[in-house]
Amino acid sequence: MTAGNDATRALHADHARTFHANRFVYPVLSRRSGGISVGVNLNPDKICNFDCIYCQVDRRRQSETTFVETDALMAELESTLRLVASGELYNFPEFAAVPPALRRLNDIAFSGDGEPTTYRNFDELIAACAAVKVRLGLDEVKMVLITNASMLHREHVRRGLAILDAHQGEIWAKLEAGTDAYYHKIERTPIPFRQILDNITDAARVRPLVIQSLFMRVDGEPPSAAELAAFCDRLNEITADGGQLKLVQVYTVARRPAESFVAPLTDAEVDAIVTLVKERTGLPAAAFYGVAT
Ligand code: SF4
Repeated sequence: MTAGNDATRALHADHARTFHANRFVYPVLSRRSGGISVGVNLNPDKICNFDCIYCQVDRRRQSETTFVETDALMAELESTLRLVASGELYNFPEFAAVPPALRRLNDIAFSGDGEPTTYRNFDELIAACAAVKVRLGLDEVKMVLITNASMLHREHVRRGLAILDAHQGEIWAKLEAGTDAYYHKIERTPIPFRQILDNITDAARVRPLVIQSLFMRVDGEPPSAAELAAFCDRLNEITADGGQLKLVQVYTVARRPAESFVAPLTDAEVDAIVTLVKERTGLPAAAFYGVAT
């Protein structure tokens, strides 16, 4: 993806998690999807098992909705999909400036304000959303799980992944460190780095995964050359162990991060990481930039 103009970048940065009266489902113009993504928020309580220093979920304000109401979520999903598929969405002022090339319904994305796979009834919810997609005849629309990979080994999550596989599913798994120390510095979680690497490898043995990697400036410093080399080594280990990786998305901070010592990389720095990943792993890699400064 090439850098958009400032207006397009501003739209991309506007990922409010509410759409009019909706509480769980929100359409966004997605940089990484290249179209409209209908987000499903399975963590309205804003609780996550990671505490990433760059997290762009606004936790300064408490949400009024703290648990998923399945019936309301399904109704919101259906009405929002109809709105996007019909093109009525672009009559709303906040979507009127979406460029014609991006006026397409790309996916239903499970992400939101925390880690979606921590949702207790994950598999049942995925099945119900897939049924809505089938009923509306949206066969070509993808179902994207945006995950930190921490729970992919759990049985109910595995069942959910199998349902995704049967419905144009795609898993975007977070991996943005090469060393244990950097992983813990960035993600601030007690979950071992080894668990994340094993989960990604196991899931990628079953179907090809997309890796999502956010790199940033921490206290003014971009990731070191040694860290980036170690990151490429981890990718190589996953593929050597039989994992299939179809794309490495390299991106940077585009919205207000959790910590003030975090800042975006420049477009050139993101491009350099993409080049490095391609050279050291042979995997396809794509750049997604931060907001224009
Ligand atoms: S895994 Fe995602 S939601 Fe959780 S803290 Fe990190 S960036 Fe935020």
